[in-house]
Formats: sequence, structure tokens, C-alpha cells
Amino acid sequence: MKTIAPNYYTKFHCIADKCRHSCCIGWEIDIDEDTLDFYQSIGGDFGNKLHENIENDGESAHFSLVGKEERCPFLKENGLCEMILTLGEDALCDICREHPRFYHVLSDRDEVGLGLCCEEAARLILSWEGDTVLAVIDDDGEDTTPTAWEETLFSLRKHLFVLLQDRKKPIHERAEEMLAFCHAEFPNKTPAEWRDIFLSLEQLDPAWRETLESLGASQNVPLSDLEKPFENLLLYFVYRHTAEAADEKDFSARVSFAYLGYHIIRLLCATKKAQTGVCAFHELSELARRYSSEIEYSEENTEALLHLLR
Ligand code: SF4
Repeated sequence: MKTIAPNYYTKFHCIADKCRHSCCIGWEIDIDEDTLDFYQSIGGDFGNKLHENIENDGESAHFSLVGKEERCPFLKENGLCEMILTLGEDALCDICREHPRFYHVLSDRDEVGLGLCCEEAARLILSWEGDTVLAVIDDDGEDTTPTAWEETLFSLRKHLFVLLQDRKKPIHERAEEMLAFCHAEFPNKTPAEWRDIFLSLEQLDPAWRETLESLGASQNVPLSDLEKPFENLLLYFVYRHTAEAADEKDFSARVSFAYLGYHIIRLLCATKKAQTGVCAFHELSELARRYSSEIEYSEENTEALLHLLR
């Protein structure tokens, strides 16, 4: 079985105490069973702290979050993790160890990637300068065969990767070609209509509502200095969201979903530039991180938008 990842994947390192939007704040962290057993075996003062800060209803366990900010109880004021400092990295539960990685398990491979909701992953993905290539990063030597549909999926996706990286054309043209190639019908809505749709979804951070409310005015502001980051963004969405497609129709809907992410983030960047005269790379990266946290990391929101696009 092979493990496949985009070629930037192995360059990722968590920036820990330098992170401004730590994943240890505001997210409920479920503890897997093996790690829970291990935590229950820890004694001493740290063991007591550990036991007091785990909520367990018998079906699932998670760390109790602290204060209005909802911080992990082991996140120190200096941004470092008390669990790692006391017990070492091996003591982390699966979610803490794996974040921001995502996985798709297919017949002949595991596909892994980095989620855009992590600010360092967003910076790395969007600033990647070379081609984005899917590479084998691990292989246990056991060959298995993909299903007929998976063969089709790999070939469709391969074509999209070539099409989206044809830099002779502007990225908006490549994005339109992607939709046409997949016979994906993207709804013809104004920015204000998209704003209302997104405002009707579940929101985690009140700042996202404010960002969405600004959406609308400025579709045609040029963003030519952000062509490559937008290309990287589209490739990320395509890689992340098409692997789970059940058939060609579902693949098209997921390609529309990828386009939607690109389209909304582009509109938000255009609005920013119209308001302030500039939309710098770090602003695009932050808008993409927020979009990902609010949409990709909410099953409810992803499903609602996929439903609309189907
Ligand atoms: S969001 Fe990313 S960079 Fe920040 S603490 Fe989490 S994994 Fe590290």
C-alpha cells in the first residue's frame, strides 16, 4: 500500500508558540481509546491534572476547555504544550499528533494532505513556488488494485492538475476550464447572493460573519500578483475534496465545491483590495484559513454547500 501526498507535505512543521490561531484554542479535542488508557495510567501531580481535565461520558472523552477562549488545559500561556513538555510528543492523542493532516483511504493507497485551517499549512500551501505534484511518500511494498471508479477518478484528477497548472492562461480561465471539463454546473449567483447563503450557514467565529458581510461590492478588482497562490488554492481544494467522490456526478459536484472555495476567497480578496487598495499574500492566506475553519471543518456546512451544488 502506498501513501500519496502533495510534494509540499513533508516540508510542514507546526510553528507552536509562534502560531496566532492555535488549534489548541476553540476546538473540542476528542481523545482516542488507546491514548485515554495511557492517560488513565499516569500517576503523580501531572496524572491528577490530566484526570481532572478529561470529560468522559462513557462513549467519548475529550479535554475540558478552559475560559471564554476555550483553551486546551495543557496549552501554556507561552504557547507551548505542557503535555509534550512533561511526557514527550509520543504522549499526544491521535488528533493532536495528526492535526492538520487529513487522510483519504482508497483501495490501493492512502492519500494524505495538510488542512488549510492551520495557518502554517495555509502559508506553506499557498506560497509553494513550484508545480504541485502528488508523490509517493511511503510504500510498504504490498500492491493492491484500485477499483474501476478509482482509476477514472485518478485520471480525471491528473487531467485537472495539468489543466490548472497551465500558466500560459490566467487562473480564472483555467478555473472555468476545470468546470467545463467536468461538466460541473456552477450556479450563476451574485456576490450578494453568495453572501446571504454563507451567512445562513453555521458560523464558529463572529469575525467570519463580519468578513462575509463585507462580501459583494467588487468582483472585477485585478489580483494578478496572487495568480500562483490562487492556483495552489484550487489544486488544494481539488485534491482534498474529490478523493471521496462516489462517481462522476459526485466528482463534478466536488469540483464545483472546489471552485466555490476559490471563488469566495477571491471575492473576499477583491473586496479587501477595493477597500484598502491592497490585498497582500498574508491577507489571502488568512482569508483561506478562515474559510477552511468555517466551511471545510464543519461537516454541516460542507454538506449544505455540496447539496446546493448537486
Ligand atoms: S494551527 Fe498549525 S501551526 Fe498552529 S499550533 Fe496548530 S498545527 Fe501548529
